[in-house]
Parts: sequence; structure tokens; C-alpha cells
Amino acid sequence: MAKEAAERMRKQATAEAPLTKVELDALCDFLDESLSEGCDHSHRFTRTFLACHKLPEDRVVSWLGENGGYCDCEVLANVEGTL
Ligand SMILES: [Zn+2]
Repeated sequence: MAKEAAERMRKQATAEAPLTKVELDALCDFLDESLSEGCDHSHRFTRTFLACHKLPEDRVVSWLGENGGYCDCEVLANVEGTL
């Protein structure tokens, strides 16, 4: 993909993100700790975090999926640093 297109997608992702950079960073810290017991390829820890922080679970999970975060470990691998 061309650099400009990647850049544009990144900006678009930021504009549409249902959570702030601070919240995403906090989510990734939480996942980092929680995933020491392993990922079961669901968003269970992500949803735990979102529920605790009163964030819109379904919107955030679908946004994470659009950015390559199809489960807890992929959120860490692919979405951390997106915002
Ligand atoms: Zn996983």
C-alpha cells in the first residue's frame, strides 16, 4: 500500500475511534498484564476493560477489528499505537 494511503487510513481510524489514545493505551497495558495467562482468541479481556471503564463495548470491539484487532492478543499486536 502506498505510504499516503496508509497515512490517510491511519488518520481516518483516529477520527472515527470510539475511544481516546489514553484509553487505548490503558487498554493495551491491561491486556499486556491479562494475557500472561494466554489469549483464547476472543475479546474477553478487552470487554472486561471496556465494561469497567463504561466504554461502548460493541463499537470499540468492531473498531478494533477494523484495525486488525480480532482478539485480545491481536489488539496488542496490531492496534497498540494506532491512535
Ligand atoms: Zn489472540
